[in-house]
Amino acid sequence: MMEGNIRTILSELPEGVTLVAAAKTRTPDEVRRAVDAGAQIIGENYVQEAEDAFAALGRIAKWHFIGHLQKNKVKKAVPIFDMIETVDSLRLGELIDRECAKLERVMPILVEVNSGREPQKSGVLPEDAESLLHELARLDHVRVQGLMTMGPRFGDPELARPYFQETKRLFDQLSKLGIENTEMRYLSMGMSNTYKIAIEEGANMVRIGTKIFGERDYS
Ligand SMILES: *Cc1c(COP(=O)(O)O)cnc(C)c1O
Repeated sequence: MMEGNIRTILSELPEGVTLVAAAKTRTPDEVRRAVDAGAQIIGENYVQEAEDAFAALGRIAKWHFIGHLQKNKVKKAVPIFDMIETVDSLRLGELIDRECAKLERVMPILVEVNSGREPQKSGVLPEDAESLLHELARLDHVRVQGLMTMGPRFGDPELARPYFQETKRLFDQLSKLGIENTEMRYLSMGMSNTYKIAIEEGANMVRIGTKIFGERDYS
């Protein structure tokens, strides 16, 4: 079932679009099956859950952090992840930079944009993204590789489209600046119910959970 879901999704994704299998609440065994079926990147929301999955499975795939990263979890997160998609402040970037310096590595990161301008949500406001990019560019052990957004959640996926459009416009504007030490390569947006719309609007990385693994007991 899950295997079939992944194969179908992978076969239907346009060339150049990367799948992140969003694994929150799934067991290491489910994650392993997803990888066996072709998932090359696992997205994790919680550091504790990622530690368990990583301990069981190791580097069978790339690990992306896609949740809200608490500052006191950075030290545990850095050794596991190949990319952190949700950097939304200089402070968080600095903490990741510091841990990566100790390990003599460079962490690829995406800047999370609060495209819906929702007060309680994480992400930098679109108008503040440029200055954050300039600040992050000065850190030697993180490297910005693009943007990520969640967008507001609606019943009707079509309502998410304007937020994806706005994030793509921002992505293009920021790309043109040619900021040093910064690559605008990945635009991570779209989930199970919205990824097709996100791809139409320029996403080249999509994060899909439910449509791969089935409904979650909680979300
Ligand atoms: C859970 C989650 C997803 C996937 O959501 P589904 O609706 O299950 O596809 C994508 N991105 C983030 C950040 C998530 O937390």
